Amino acid sequence: MAVKVLISASLRSFTDRVPEFSAEGSTIKEVFDALADQYPDVLKGVFDEDGEIRGYVNVYINDKNIYSLKGLKSEVKDGDFVLLIPAIAGGSQETDKRESVISKERMKEVALDNKQIERYSNHLQLREINVKGQKRIMAAKVLVAGLGALGGVVVNRLAAAGVGTIGIVDFDEVAVSNLQSQTTYGTRDVGRPKAAATKDSVKKLNPLVNTVVYQEKLTSENVEDIIADYDVVVDATDNFVSRYLISDACVLAGKPEVFGAMYQFEGFVTILGESTGPCYRCLYPSPPPVGLVPTCSEAGVASPLPGVVGGLMATEVLKLLTGTGTTLSGKAISIDTWNLRTNYVETVKDAGCPVCGKHRTLHHIEEIDYEDFCGLKEEPDEEPIEGIEGDELAARIASGEPITIVDVREPHERSILRFPGAITIPIGQLARRQKELDPGIDTIFVCREGKRSILAIRTLREAGYEGPMYNLKGGLDTTSQIIFPNEGAWL
Ligand SMILES: [Zn+2]
Repeated sequence: MAVKVLISASLRSFTDRVPEFSAEGSTIKEVFDALADQYPDVLKGVFDEDGEIRGYVNVYINDKNIYSLKGLKSEVKDGDFVLLIPAIAGGSQETDKRESVISKERMKEVALDNKQIERYSNHLQLREINVKGQKRIMAAKVLVAGLGALGGVVVNRLAAAGVGTIGIVDFDEVAVSNLQSQTTYGTRDVGRPKAAATKDSVKKLNPLVNTVVYQEKLTSENVEDIIADYDVVVDATDNFVSRYLISDACVLAGKPEVFGAMYQFEGFVTILGESTGPCYRCLYPSPPPVGLVPTCSEAGVASPLPGVVGGLMATEVLKLLTGTGTTLSGKAISIDTWNLRTNYVETVKDAGCPVCGKHRTLHHIEEIDYEDFCGLKEEPDEEPIEGIEGDELAARIASGEPITIVDVREPHERSILRFPGAITIPIGQLARRQKELDPGIDTIFVCREGKRSILAIRTLREAGYEGPMYNLKGGLDTTSQIIFPNEGAWL
């Protein structure tokens, strides 16, 4: 009867650093005798002077502790795995203050077969995860909203970890420009739905994971139904509507949320939605004006960053699932990877929060118009912003008529594609520098995606500028080839 003995890292000093050993035997006692023949020192690590297994060592046959079987007389069969895992006194999972979000009953419904023991052996050897933690991970259902670079890393790590069910929400398709920061898609996936491509990559990595695809946009109508089935929700979306929506829904459903965001070289991760901690509204009672915070595609992102931030997010999920470790509950971590600065900040629940505060005013998702709250709807009494199409602007430039073009992009964006003849004024300086504009002629505002240019027009209106203003629809992203057909577009 050949069995494989997996030796935890902290016991390997007794086995010349060998992590696994094949032994013959029909009982645990015989397996240990064979092990001792090869590595006599291991007995000192595992047994005390009376021949009893030391208090800090757990011995498992597959996923069963030998104490729940027949102790040293427990029988082993061909192909079984024997795990030697020290559980340092006072630090075992049982004494940890944090409770796992996966109940003992659900954990007990899961069993590890030999293939799973082999696949997850690196987790089983970690005292913090161990057999119980791995069972909880396998019993868990985690929803990941948003399959951009961050969501992709989170899904990839959770799938490798063996999370039983991973729900994935995204309605978008893979673009070439995504690949620079992606881990889950390849060039062949360009044009495919991100959700379908992600499902394929999970299957390839770990076919034991059940992936549930929601190829749709999260909305007030569907969010509660979608999250209802999950133990932990991960927000890896890139827009404020989704962030408020997910946070509110998690608070109302009593589910913990792991939140992460990134910008250029910086990442931010925290846990929201717990009864003792804040929600997204507590941290940010209102969203920034539309266009003020550039998206990743406007601001750029360093390719390793999603790996760092998404890896941290996945780690938080595993801590919530296993009920061990020190989580980001009540704190947030912010990392500047380019300048090597890391900060922990305390995050505090706002007693006046309308969703999780003492006197809640919001009890149902339907009570909020998220698009409106995030400023994506025009006020009925607000003067509409007039747009201009790329071909019309190209024709007006070609005709030589007097127009003013204001480029509100950042200097690094302008160095990728210059707009000849445009004057450059950052949004923050527009109100002060409005005298540089001629109210007698049309002024056209341009940016990369056509959102910051809208903010620029609103800013100038508020500052009292009365000249005619137009927004280049879709920004230079969609019009640069029309306006500059000979310039090779983006360099
Ligand atoms: Zn709150």
